[in-house]
Amino acid sequence: MIVCKFGGSSVAEAQQIKKVKKIVDSDPRRQVIIVSAPGKRSKDDEKVTDMLHACNAMVQQELSCKDLFKKISLRYTTILSDLGLQTKPFLPVLEEVRQMIDAGHGAEYAASRGEYLAARMVATYFGWEFLDTDPLIVINHDGTVNPETWDNLKKALKPNVKYVVPGFYGCDPEGKVKTFSRGGSDITGAILASATKAETYENWTDVSGIFSVDPRLIPDAKVIKEMTYREVRELAGVGAGVFHEEAIAPILASGIPINVKNTNAPSDDGTMILPTREIGDHPLVGISGKGGFSRLSLRKLMLFKRTGIRHALLTMLHIFGVRPSFSLFGVDSMVWFFETTQASDSVLDAMCSRLKGEFDLEEVSIDHGHAIVGIIGSGVMQHSSVIATSTNALAHDKIGLNFFNYGSSDTSILIGVSDIQAQEAVKSLYKALF
Ligand code: ASP
Repeated sequence: MIVCKFGGSSVAEAQQIKKVKKIVDSDPRRQVIIVSAPGKRSKDDEKVTDMLHACNAMVQQELSCKDLFKKISLRYTTILSDLGLQTKPFLPVLEEVRQMIDAGHGAEYAASRGEYLAARMVATYFGWEFLDTDPLIVINHDGTVNPETWDNLKKALKPNVKYVVPGFYGCDPEGKVKTFSRGGSDITGAILASATKAETYENWTDVSGIFSVDPRLIPDAKVIKEMTYREVRELAGVGAGVFHEEAIAPILASGIPINVKNTNAPSDDGTMILPTREIGDHPLVGISGKGGFSRLSLRKLMLFKRTGIRHALLTMLHIFGVRPSFSLFGVDSMVWFFETTQASDSVLDAMCSRLKGEFDLEEVSIDHGHAIVGIIGSGVMQHSSVIATSTNALAHDKIGLNFFNYGSSDTSILIGVSDIQAQEAVKSLYKALF
């Protein structure tokens, strides 16, 4: 059996959903499909999920979302009638959702309704069963999948029944609707693929696979034919957007191949994501960069003499909502990079004073505007010449380097540059290495 996830652009309008039907009908093994909420139909269009967040924001200000919700209703009723379906039976469903948002069921409930409505609509069009993921998929408060999920799905999925499943949400352990992070329908797809022991998990999007570099930076960027779970995870971790970075976890143990494909060009091979691959002459698969990091630097003579110091410092950071993504340790110093959006300047000032006082530090400073660029590939450790080529290219293009991480993973080299030079760094490295 094949489990297919179709992204927001694949369900954005009737003509796209017709393509989805054609794809699904062309292979009888495609028996479970997961859908996102309708995405943008053009560059300036709005995603349904964003409109639902806006509805919830109005309710937070004690205003009714009634008018704004009309735009959402229109998105669905237009699709339904363009598909030749009756809109009437769907109106009470839309109205119930609107009332629940207005009654203050919160941001995650509101955001989840885009997928809920899309799956119900597609299920009607296909004549397939609608399978709600609330309360089957249980999402822990930290966003990980609760193991109860597997049992729940096992009991709910009947053999020889074809299902349309909403992506992006489930419920928390207390039974309240909970969403994954943005783009999380990829995770739902991975969960369903794993639960059904699918032979393949197809992830249908609007590009013909995962590119070795952002095609907006390098127009002749190539689609990666084959990559490993770990490579896709590391590439997504440094900003490559096609596949959600947390979607590997549910599928890891089963080894199910993932095929990223294009709804608008279904005969293109796309990218195969596998547990392992032949490295051969291709040690690297891609380069990507992610901006928006801040740097926290600490210094104190004999800092590490104190037992448990790293743990104590990290605990303090967590108290202020700071969860570092990357770290560096020197003889008497420590540097952490974290996402700038995690804390405001005033919170960071308070955190620095606490750190300085409680740990008697000589120096504590924070600066913003950092980016991390990742060179990804399972062969990076066997090909140390990648280091020389990379640093030469960056020096040649006058790109300053403030972080270099080689050896913490056998699949990546991470390089810190300033936010404003991040795109130049990606281009420079791609030209030198690929
Ligand atoms: N609709 C959600 C989002 O826009 C989830 C998804 O598309 O996977 O993030």
